[in-house]
Amino acid sequence: MSVRTVDLLVAGGGPAGLAAAVHAGRAGWEVEVWDPRSGALDGTDAGTIDKACGEGLMPGALAALLALGADPAGHDLLGVRYAAGGRAATADFRHGPGRGIRRTALHAELTRAALEAGVRLERRTVGAVDQDAGGVRVAEVRARHLVAADGLHSPVRRRLGLDLPAARHARFGLRRHFTLAPWSPYVEVHWAPGAEAYVTPVGDELVSVAVLGAPGSSYDARLAAVPELRERLARAEPASDVRGAGPLRQGARRRVAGRVLLVGDAGGYVDALTGEGLALAFAQAEAAVAAMRAGEPQRYEQDWVRLTRRYRWLTAGLLAGTRPRALRRAIVPAARALPRVFDGAVNELARPVGPLPSPVGRQRVGRVASRTRSTSRST
Ligand SMILES: Cc1cc2nc3c(=O)[nH]c(=O)nc-3n(C[C@H](O)[C@H](O)[C@H](O)COP(=O)(O)OP(=O)(O)OC[C@H]3O[C@@H](n4cnc5c(N)ncnc54)[C@H](O)[C@@H]3O)c2cc1C
Repeated sequence: MSVRTVDLLVAGGGPAGLAAAVHAGRAGWEVEVWDPRSGALDGTDAGTIDKACGEGLMPGALAALLALGADPAGHDLLGVRYAAGGRAATADFRHGPGRGIRRTALHAELTRAALEAGVRLERRTVGAVDQDAGGVRVAEVRARHLVAADGLHSPVRRRLGLDLPAARHARFGLRRHFTLAPWSPYVEVHWAPGAEAYVTPVGDELVSVAVLGAPGSSYDARLAAVPELRERLARAEPASDVRGAGPLRQGARRRVAGRVLLVGDAGGYVDALTGEGLALAFAQAEAAVAAMRAGEPQRYEQDWVRLTRRYRWLTAGLLAGTRPRALRRAIVPAARALPRVFDGAVNELARPVGPLPSPVGRQRVGRVASRTRSTSRST
């Protein structure tokens, strides 16, 4: 078998893998991305990758996405609203909107940006990984580095023996889309006794509803526990099948193993409750490529710890704090009683995770409103 050499091989063509590929491709590296589900290789929308996701990009995630040269259409998100028992607390994003974006639109735009950066996309699986001091070998390809961006259950992480044991209190996410005009420009989090329902407007006539919670009940059963939502959705046509993911909490012993770097969900994930997965994926992709380019891949480990600290603490804290029923019932009243604290927490999650995006990215953030329409019939 003749050996082909590249600078970077990326396992996984999701947001983390494509973002890493764009950064490396723009730096003049020869980059290949392998994903068995990779679609849109011909530049059309056919076969774009879908995934269970709440599809809400916080303002920081949106800024990072625009800086990558990807600008998918969607729906403006003006803030976050917590709701339960007919009461709600709302916090506006202070530094510009986020955007609700269908995963298929996100994937198509990131694919386009990757192709523009000269990245080669292949519809295939990364299997056995061999490495030595000078590089990584996967099938007939020898790469200077491998980025494993192969998702929550990362096969590369498992092969390298980096999986942490399963966490207690496993949680899963399920999502479905509905054809109806968004009733609010906010990401709504409805707190039900055993689950949270997440509503994100993603288009003028399209709403994404994700439910998060322990395993054991169906999507419809979970929605039924939120009367306000059940009524709103009663006459709306489902626009997609139910799609799920989990257990959400996944850990890695470390993020760097020689010349292999774990990026995105592959490097570890706490929960979708705070809607930060994409912001983290983009920030980690940028940090991983910077470390590889500096010839110090091991530096990415400390960068990862720094970039994810806020997310890990806030998300784990919110999960633990809302597990007891009494505290769970108190979350919306508390957010209403302490609006500054709620506003501060929401805007802490909304700000960029990593270094500020390039000036080009910042300018484009200012144009967000002209590309998307925000419907503001309030609840
Ligand atoms: C229910 C739910 C709701 C969420 N809501 C939000 C939200 O509102 N906002 C937000 O920012 N984040 C949210 N997230 C998190 C977000 O979806 C993830 O953080 C994000 O998709 C991570 O991207 P990734 O590229 O790391 O992984 P993925 O998107 O999972 O991509 C991994 C890719 O790797 C490929 N792959 C797997 N194995 C191999 C292999 N051996 N070789 C090659 N390729 C392989 C897969 O086919 C896949 O395409 C949510 C997650 C869930 C589950």
